[in-house]
Amino acid sequence: MKTKNDWRWQLANSVRTWDPPGVDRDLADRVLDRFPMSVTPYYLSLMRADDPGDPIHRMAFPHLDELAPSDSTVDDPIREEDHAVMPGLVRRYPDRALLLVSGDCPVHCRHCTRRNMGKGKIVPARGEGLVHALAYIEDNPEIRDVIISGGDPLVLEDRDLIDVLARVRSIPSVEIIRIGTRVPVTLPMRITESLALDIARFGPVYVNTQFNHPAEITDEALAAVGCLVDAGVPVNNQAVLLAGVNDSPEIIEDLCRALMRARVRPYYIFMCDLVRGIGHFRVSLDLGIEIMAHLRGRIGGLGIPQLVIDLPGGLGKIPVGPQYVIGHKDGKTILRAPDGTTVEYCEEKIKS
Ligand SMILES: *Cc1c(COP(=O)(O)O)cnc(C)c1O
Repeated sequence: MKTKNDWRWQLANSVRTWDPPGVDRDLADRVLDRFPMSVTPYYLSLMRADDPGDPIHRMAFPHLDELAPSDSTVDDPIREEDHAVMPGLVRRYPDRALLLVSGDCPVHCRHCTRRNMGKGKIVPARGEGLVHALAYIEDNPEIRDVIISGGDPLVLEDRDLIDVLARVRSIPSVEIIRIGTRVPVTLPMRITESLALDIARFGPVYVNTQFNHPAEITDEALAAVGCLVDAGVPVNNQAVLLAGVNDSPEIIEDLCRALMRARVRPYYIFMCDLVRGIGHFRVSLDLGIEIMAHLRGRIGGLGIPQLVIDLPGGLGKIPVGPQYVIGHKDGKTILRAPDGTTVEYCEEKIKS
């Protein structure tokens, strides 16, 4: 019998209708036509379901602001389409490639960077398409790091996921495999001890996930990441800074501490991309930098992620943060301590 602990039950019973009080049906449909809604019963249970101000609600339920006209946002600011070498395979860096294997996710995050995609070359590589993508990776041995993404790769059936992993692992030049998935956050019962062991067989495999708020780190999520880490699959977190969700130094501090307790290493915090339909989630870069300054000196370095901007124009990711090198004086470098104190740092080599 299928119950709420069964991931297929969760997918089958996901909420896909949106009837906000006081909103015109036509208007609501326009929002859903742009980007459909899907929320697992599990993820729904984490929020105050009738409160649009709840941070988890905000990530999962549509908002009329998604229709707001804007000159500064576009469908594909990071130009994945231009960097796709063929359908389902994006290559922006010589040593890394992004392999899209699924077009769907358990929860359609309202802040999704790929919300306007799913056409052109930003589609899953399947069947013959997957054969071609793997042949490309094999023919380009500089690619050492393959990032399996989508959509969410963990919505694939076990046998399909294992097939993809086995085929990527069989390419001798591929050193590491990463799986980009939000399943530990939105559908944690998908990850069992046996699935984790199956994934670990193709190691080194890293899982990169996206916890954005400490309330997402539930007992179920802890069990899911625990299975992965116990099996030998390191888990890293790539959060996104989102207005009304986690746009405060205290929330991010709590998140990073909770991740460390869960054995999940905070890897990146992304500034929200300039994607059409998610402008209402954007936060100022100054606040991002303030958050990073808050973390430094307050929590251990292992728990401090890098704040990253994925540059418009598809130019790649860059780290941004507070400046600790302030200037130079009399052959010395002036540095700033986390508490604001400045100190002189001698660069001279000492010789006898
Ligand atoms: C983000 C990204 C990567 C991985 O970047 P890291 O900084 O190594 O995590 C690789 N390829 C593409 C196309 C990306 O967008």
